[in-house]
Amino acid sequence: MNIGQLVSWSKILFSSQSRYLLFHVTSMCNARCKHCFYWESIESKNYTDNLTLDEIEMFSSYLPQQEIINLCGAEAFLRHDLADITEIFSRKNKVNIIAIPSNGILTDQILKKAQSLLSRFPHIAFRMTISIDALGDVHDQFRGVQGCFEKATRTLAQLCELKKHYKNLLVLTNTTFSASTQNSILETLSYLVDNFDLDTISMTMVRGDPKDPSQRRSLDLKKYREAVQYVTRYGRKGFKAHPLADFIWNATCYTRERVAQIVEKTLTHPSTRGFTCSPTEDFLVIENNGDIKLCEIIDKSLGNLRKFNYRLDQILELPETRKLVEHVKSGADMCNGCTWECAMRSSIISSPMEYPKLGAYVAKQTFSKYLAA
Ligand code: SF4
Repeated sequence: MNIGQLVSWSKILFSSQSRYLLFHVTSMCNARCKHCFYWESIESKNYTDNLTLDEIEMFSSYLPQQEIINLCGAEAFLRHDLADITEIFSRKNKVNIIAIPSNGILTDQILKKAQSLLSRFPHIAFRMTISIDALGDVHDQFRGVQGCFEKATRTLAQLCELKKHYKNLLVLTNTTFSASTQNSILETLSYLVDNFDLDTISMTMVRGDPKDPSQRRSLDLKKYREAVQYVTRYGRKGFKAHPLADFIWNATCYTRERVAQIVEKTLTHPSTRGFTCSPTEDFLVIENNGDIKLCEIIDKSLGNLRKFNYRLDQILELPETRKLVEHVKSGADMCNGCTWECAMRSSIISSPMEYPKLGAYVAKQTFSKYLAA
């Protein structure tokens, strides 16, 4: 992380507008994952209804400046005009960080598009995340595609090679913790660490209403805790060279630990929610067809951009939208059992109540390091 990126993150933290935009650029997917919470959209084949470039240009005019945009899918690399979409958000919204998660199956297409993005937008930091949930056949079965593991790891290796030529590329992996993957999760994480030059690894808990509901059952929280600790131990790599490395790293560890605590509490007491959520302020979800969603978990459209002349601001100002957001903020039952870590992270970093605990954690870690030296 360089100083520019640090400034970027500070702006995200202190902005009063939506800090994190998730734009589902397509609902087309070449995998059929057991944990997919987006499967109904994928199977309804509404990807023919994607917002066009002209439409994206129009709604971006009503979108405030964005520090970070997540161009996600289904499989985002299936969209042929990713570079043109990036160009719009760069020109209109001055985006600094673009995150693109991928299943990594289409090695050649992904590499070609990644190279084009990296060379065309050297001022934007790209975080490309490849999903690897388990090793070999277990991953293939989890993702519903024969040969998926081999293809995804080939893509990962080639993206890591690209880092030698492009300083604006960060390569990450994400591993889903679920009933099918939990038994081998430490083996999977250590395989990734040992075989690839990754900037960091991450892990997410299976969430929402997965295609295979059994993926959310019989989850072993002891294994989850061990995996969180493993991810934390490895994750420091990306921060080593920064002058504020200790501070940033300790703040990241604090947030990761709080997220893990909330996930554990929620899974132990599924009829509760362990955090305050502020959809449309902390994050904003835009579907491929222009629906503005409350979040990735609750399938509730606040309005469609096409019906509002692409005036995102008008949808956010609707009395129904404001009422629903207030309802969620005040602890609506419909949120019980939510384990969406992105929303938790946003809630933690935007909550002044967390800052004293964060300060105490950082001070404790810093002093113990100097005392040990
Ligand atoms: S708590 Fe979870 S389910 Fe409720 S609005 Fe936030 S992200 Fe959505």
